Amino acid sequence: MFTTNCSFLENELLDVVRLFHQKPENITHSFDYKEGVFFNNFQIDGRAFSFVDGGQVCDELTFKRLERRFAKLRLYEILSDLYGEKMPWGALTGIRPTKLAYREIEEGGDFQKLFEKMHVSKKNIQLVADILKAQEGVYLKGDGNTDLFVSIPFCPTKCAYCSFITAPIDKTRHFLPAYLNALTKELASIPESVGNLRSVYVGGGTPFALSREELEVVLKGIAPIYEGYVPKREYTVEAGRPDVFSEEKLQLLKDYGVTRICINPQSFSDETLQKIGRKHTEADIYRAFEMSEKYGFDINVDLIAGLTDETPDMFVESVEKAVATNAENITVHCLSLKSGAKLKEEIDYLENDFISTMVSSSREILSKNGYVPYYMYRQKYQVGNNENVGWTKPGKACVYNVDIMEETANNLAVGANAVSKRVFTDKGLITRHATQKDLKTYIENVDINIEKRKEFFK
Ligand code: SF4
Repeated sequence: MFTTNCSFLENELLDVVRLFHQKPENITHSFDYKEGVFFNNFQIDGRAFSFVDGGQVCDELTFKRLERRFAKLRLYEILSDLYGEKMPWGALTGIRPTKLAYREIEEGGDFQKLFEKMHVSKKNIQLVADILKAQEGVYLKGDGNTDLFVSIPFCPTKCAYCSFITAPIDKTRHFLPAYLNALTKELASIPESVGNLRSVYVGGGTPFALSREELEVVLKGIAPIYEGYVPKREYTVEAGRPDVFSEEKLQLLKDYGVTRICINPQSFSDETLQKIGRKHTEADIYRAFEMSEKYGFDINVDLIAGLTDETPDMFVESVEKAVATNAENITVHCLSLKSGAKLKEEIDYLENDFISTMVSSSREILSKNGYVPYYMYRQKYQVGNNENVGWTKPGKACVYNVDIMEETANNLAVGANAVSKRVFTDKGLITRHATQKDLKTYIENVDINIEKRKEFFK
């Protein structure tokens, strides 16, 4: 049982409890604040703990941050001592570590000292330092910076671990003509000036699940927006699964000025690919690379640690094979099981220490082969207390990924289940506007969506 006199802290503290394998039966928390001093008292399974932190009166925003920080830190310390467990990210939950690091630096602090206080491991402090270094020249904070996202929620089949709205295209193809009309309408409504356009990202789903002709409708809609901007930084199409690659689709991307594509194998093991519901094989992955070679795109590759029955050795083999493709970016995701994912019902991976081994092996292999970490994020239902890290060859970081993770630019998002974001850097404020997840409802509401988005970005 958990009780606190500060409802604002309830979820934050429960997130800390969730980090540990062992859990207390009863926690009572009380919080108080007087003239710059933060008081946190805990009763945990009959034992009492009291803490006094701070000492300086602060403004409201700082107060809220410190209120959370001290309460979580102290609960983490109690549980870590009681159960003899240390977490790689210490008491950091609910915030992107790099965002916190940037904020600390902007405010004149030393993020490494702050992270040490929060009990983040040395390895992870170094990881964050490396990411900040790799983002130099790409990270750009400023009102008016904007990325354009175009949502294509169609896939050849549904992967077992996927909680995204996408459905197998066989079942949704009948929506496609109307969906493309709606998308074209939305794109045409985007004002000529969308601020400083940093990148365009056509994501999924699997955009290559569309035919060449269908895909051209999307690229035609984007062309007037992208062509107006100089210099052209980055135009990515998350082509997707290797089995849907074709020469004609790749040529089409080239013709429309696309600079980067994603080939998303997730694993190089045929056995695993079959178990997760993919229709492609390792050989298809190589075929997709061979086909793409002559077009000179930068290539992003995705892998997932923790897929069905994979051992650390199998995962290491996939990382090595991904490195051998010479891709510009390789992102190592850890399995995240949200509701909606078929795997969640089938497999209890949550105690799986394999994942940590996989993650640390991937760090070693990628560093040795000249890749540097350049973006990172953590998810709530992530297996183990690990993180997803994007690795890049020096100078090849994907601008869109950095902007999205650091939330330094507006995101103008069109299509179904597209979440636009408006970033007010001076106020430290982010507002969001989402379109409907369901294809039919999205199509029916396109005119309303256009008006609402215009209002949102006014
Ligand atoms: S390709 Fe991606 S979006 Fe499509 S079903 Fe698989 S995980 Fe989901």
